[in-house]
Amino acid sequence: MKIGVLALQGAFAEHITALHRLEVETVPVRLPRQLVGLDGLIIPGGESTTITSLMLSYNLRTEISRLAENGLPILGTCAGMILLAREVSDDGVEPVSVMGITVRRNAFGRQRESFEADLEIPVLGEKPFPGVFIRAPLIEQVTDEVEVLARLDDNTIVAARQGTLLACAFHPELTDDLRFHRYFLSIAGGE
Ligand code: GLN
Repeated sequence: MKIGVLALQGAFAEHITALHRLEVETVPVRLPRQLVGLDGLIIPGGESTTITSLMLSYNLRTEISRLAENGLPILGTCAGMILLAREVSDDGVEPVSVMGITVRRNAFGRQRESFEADLEIPVLGEKPFPGVFIRAPLIEQVTDEVEVLARLDDNTIVAARQGTLLACAFHPELTDDLRFHRYFLSIAGGE
């Protein structure tokens, strides 16, 4: 299995480390040709406005969108989740626009800008997952095709899946818990 990690800006190195720990071949993706032959792609957290403009400069946005429509499994974390959304409450971002979620950027206000929360994510088993939130977005709305995977105690949606597309508002690559990555690999492997 070969997984690409979009390596334009943000926390891509941490995703590559997590995938190495799972003994998966990884490709840092900076050019469209590096998307060829991948079994999955991770779009990391970072600054979605910056990643947008770099994706446009390197002609990656249209190609990623086309591959996603053709079933390429993609995991978007934090800014990566914003980039998967069909609707973003911000004009500075031009998302890849493939997932039926409406996302609000920097949604937690100053006091809760960054926080950790133990999340119940039934698809990962009973043990709570350590959610690390950094200037995180939230999912305001989902369409019928989208399965909600995790919510905060106040019901805010923070992880979702639509077929082979997976998105979370938190940073699984910044914890030692590899279950979220493993779950993505199972999707990439056809489960
Ligand atoms: N605040 C960032 C954005 O709007 C996302 C933060 C992150 O990826 N940690 O793009």
